[in-house]
Formats: sequence, structure tokens, C-alpha cells
Amino acid sequence: MSVKVCKFGGTSMADGNVIKRVKAITDDDEERKFVVVSAPGKRYSGDIKVTDMLYECHKKLMSEGSLGDSFAAVRDRFTSIVKELGLDFDIKSVLDETERRIERECSEDFTASRGEYLSARITAKALGAEFVDAEDVIFFKEDGSLDSARTYKAVDDAVCKCARAVLPGFYGKGADGKVKTFSRGGSDISGAVVARAVNASVYENWTDVSGFLACDPRIVDNPKRIKRISYKELRELSYMGANVLHSDSIFPVRKANIPIVIKNTFRPEDEGTEILPSSRYTPLGNVVTGVAGKKNFTVIFIEKSHMNSEIGFIGKVLCAVAAEGVSVEHIPSGIDTMSLVIESCQLTDSKLGKITEDIKESVNPDLIRIIENIALIATVGHGMSSSVGTSARLFNAIAAADVNIKMIDQGSSEMNIIVGVKNDDYEKCISAIYSEFFR
Ligand code: ASP
Repeated sequence: MSVKVCKFGGTSMADGNVIKRVKAITDDDEERKFVVVSAPGKRYSGDIKVTDMLYECHKKLMSEGSLGDSFAAVRDRFTSIVKELGLDFDIKSVLDETERRIERECSEDFTASRGEYLSARITAKALGAEFVDAEDVIFFKEDGSLDSARTYKAVDDAVCKCARAVLPGFYGKGADGKVKTFSRGGSDISGAVVARAVNASVYENWTDVSGFLACDPRIVDNPKRIKRISYKELRELSYMGANVLHSDSIFPVRKANIPIVIKNTFRPEDEGTEILPSSRYTPLGNVVTGVAGKKNFTVIFIEKSHMNSEIGFIGKVLCAVAAEGVSVEHIPSGIDTMSLVIESCQLTDSKLGKITEDIKESVNPDLIRIIENIALIATVGHGMSSSVGTSARLFNAIAAADVNIKMIDQGSSEMNIIVGVKNDDYEKCISAIYSEFFR
């Protein structure tokens, strides 16, 4: 029988009544055998996520040598979840032991990981499933990266004998034998790791939205949902700020050709968004899959006659940037011109000064100009490479919105066109592109 791995995010764990939905969803499909959970998230706007409470607990422990009453809010949260679920589960003992262990271990990662640990203990009980501790099956190497071979084997060995298992997301065991967490939002990665380990037919990522939207809903009212997207398109869009899934969670499943489906715990009947490897991806007929962007880039524009025939020109320019420990996002170029597009947050005044001086010294340009407050907007879709006139439509739409394009960069895969515009034109430009391709 093929198996599905389901990861339930913070809002799906927020209180006992939502966890009842999780039970209904997993009961509804016998292939949903392995479940990975986050710590309880916000129940309403203004509420505090359990993981954030736990980071506060750790601060208190560090400053005062004990947790004091800082663990009380965490205690209340889990106690009421058990009550709402009506479970016969001795949560008090588990919380007492957790509190003692937090004080003993005195580690930030350990403390933060307890939200997922407690969530998984309770969910396992509610689902009548086995609890498998991530500490025993997910391993990191000395350099902090995942020890994939060891982890996949350990996960598979541990869960294959369970009719159903629940694992906490977000953490595993470091090379020093202590609990170590992924970066924030890392339960998505745990879910992908488990899906890969058991060779799941699909990795279902349950959130509080019905999939990815073709555009930021804060800019465009009620944008269309993306029904199907390839891993490559997703990478382009999430790099540009379209965030539903932790970007590192793609890698384990992508290698094994396992699709991800983004689903909504509160509307399980919605189709969601299917994310597929290129080998299994066929576009649904639309030219553009999505539009996303980010503000606040700086462009260093360089001009020099015969730049094209000067050997090593680009290399020297890039060395000047690298020497300041700064990474370059894009390098649009012409015969006698090139631009370096850099995230402004990487550039202090002194770094920018040093980079320009260094460029002047090493390549003696005719002109070097700094353009600030630039927003980048990516229009992404595999359909773009095969349809004639897409860029004409894109640029006409931007022109009709009276937006001046400062920079154009078409990725070599022809599945994205990135334009640079003034920060102030960002929203206007996104709306114009969305209307052209989706309305
Ligand atoms: N609870 C962790 C966080 O808030 C991990 C997760 O939710 O994926 O970052």
C-alpha cells in the first residue's frame, strides 16, 4: 500500500478542537499513516505561538538561573488542549518532566523543541498512534547539516512497524548528542525528511490556506489559487517572497520525485496546490503560473566602452563585491554595461563605498552609478518559454500602468522574467502584471 506523510502546521495544532479536525482528516484516508506536527500556533491575532513562549522561557532561564513562572503559560496551553480533546492522558506528569528537563539541559534548542514534542505526544494519543521521538531518528552532522543517510534509515526502521505514527517536527539530534532544531518553520523540513525516508506517494502539508496564490493577496484582491506548480517555479516564487512552505523542505522530496500538496486543515475539501517535480509536471495551459517580488535592492551600474572584449572584467568586479562578503542576486549586462543587483540590507554605507572604490581601481570604468530603492518582480511560468509574445504582453502591461522599468533579467531557463522598478511602483506593477495574465 502506498503511504502519505501529513505535516500539520501551527494553526492546525492551535487548540483541541482543531486537533479534532486533524484526527478526522487522517481517519478519512488510511494511507495517511505518518503524521508530523508543529507546536501550537496562534489561535487568534495577538495570541502567542508556543515556540515563541518557549524562547522566552529560555531567556528567563539564562538570566535568572531557573524558569520561575515563565513555563506557566506553556503549561496552560497544553493542559487545555488535552481537556478540549477529552483525552485520558496524564499531561501534568509529562509537563513536570519537561520542565525539569528544560532546566537540566539549559539549551535554547532543547527548550524550543518542546512545543513540537508535547504537541506530538498529545496528537499521538488523540489519533491512537505511536509516538516516535525525532530525537531518536533525525540526525545532524557535525557541520549542522542533516545526516540524510542515517536519518532516512532510522526513520524508516522506526515507523515501518507502526500502523500509524506521529513525529514531532522541527528538531533532531546533533552530532554532540544534544537536541538540535532546524531554522524557524523547520517542521516543514521534518515532514519532507519523513516523506523521503518512507518513500511516500505524497507529502501533504496541511496549513491554514488552500494552497499558493498566484500573487500577494495584500496587493491584489482575491487572487487565483495555483492548482499545480513545479518545484522549479516554486523555488523562483518563494525566493521572491511567496512564502507558505519552508524553502529547504523542497530538497529531500524533490530528489525522490515525491509530490507535495498544500492543503487547508479548515477546508479539507479544497483541492490545494500540487507541487510536482519537472518529470511529472505538465502545465495546466496557463502561460504564467505566478507573480512575486521583493522590495529594497541596490543596483551598481557600470559602463565602460569595449567592456565585452576586456578579459576578466566581470571577474574583477565580482571579486570586489565578494571581498566585502556581499552576495549578488542578479547581473544583467549589455555589451558595454553591466549591473550588479544586491539586497540593500547587505550593504552598509562603508561596504558600498569600499566596493565602488575597488571597482574603480580594478577595472577603471567610464561610469559607475548607484541606484537605490529598487524592487524586483518575477513573473514565473514554464508556459512562458513556449508561448510567443509573452514578454511583449508583460512589458506593454507595465507601460500601460505608467511604470518605468529600470532593469530586465530573463533567467536562462526562460521560465521567468525579472523586472526592476522603483520601490514606489512595486504594487502598481504587480497588479498590472496580474491583470494581464490572470484576469
Ligand atoms: N514551531 C517552530 C517555529 O515556530 C517550527 C515550525 O512551526 O515549523 O518556528
